[in-house]
Amino acid sequence: MTRDMICVSCPIGCALHVELDDAGKVVSVSGNTCKRGEKYAIDECTNPVRMLTSTIRVNGGVLPVVPVKTSVPIPKGKMFECMKAINNEVADAPIKLGDVLIANVCDTGADIIATNEV
Ligand code: SF4
Repeated sequence: MTRDMICVSCPIGCALHVELDDAGKVVSVSGNTCKRGEKYAIDECTNPVRMLTSTIRVNGGVLPVVPVKTSVPIPKGKMFECMKAINNEVADAPIKLGDVLIANVCDTGADIIATNEV
């Protein structure tokens, strides 16, 4: 089995070609021009993660929502579950930049933090 992807670890965007065995284990990575590309390809094939950004509703603020993000990247498979948790949350103003609005969201180890003030 093979997979082709673009490395997004830097603006160069090398085209990566990944060979996997029947168990889904990475056998080889080519097309990368540095070690970061190899790590990106292996992570993307075995445990893809993404930063999640969204907004949380605010109670009693001058704005109705506050922008938020995860403190660290979370597994792609947990994105919808985390979005549900974010959509169900209402935070009370005042909110400061960096406030933790949901700790350890959906047991991912990531916090949902405010990226602005309200
Ligand atoms: S493989 Fe290295 S040089 Fe190529 S896009 Fe990834 S980080 Fe950049």
